[in-house]
Amino acid sequence: MIKRILVRCPATAKLTPTGQTVEEASWGDTKLKEHKVTCPHCQGTHAWTKKDVVLAR
Ligand SMILES: [Zn+2]
Repeated sequence: MIKRILVRCPATAKLTPTGQTVEEASWGDTKLKEHKVTCPHCQGTHAWTKKDVVLAR
């Protein structure tokens, strides 16, 4: 199952789509470098890593 990668905005606590997706079955083995996302909720830029991710349908 393909999941969307979301991260939680530290300013508004809302989930923010990163525009990236991942195969759920391989997520446990997925290694991610730090990424940045432009946040639609607070207009800021947030750095995120794997520990920040919420997977969503
Ligand atoms: Zn934000």
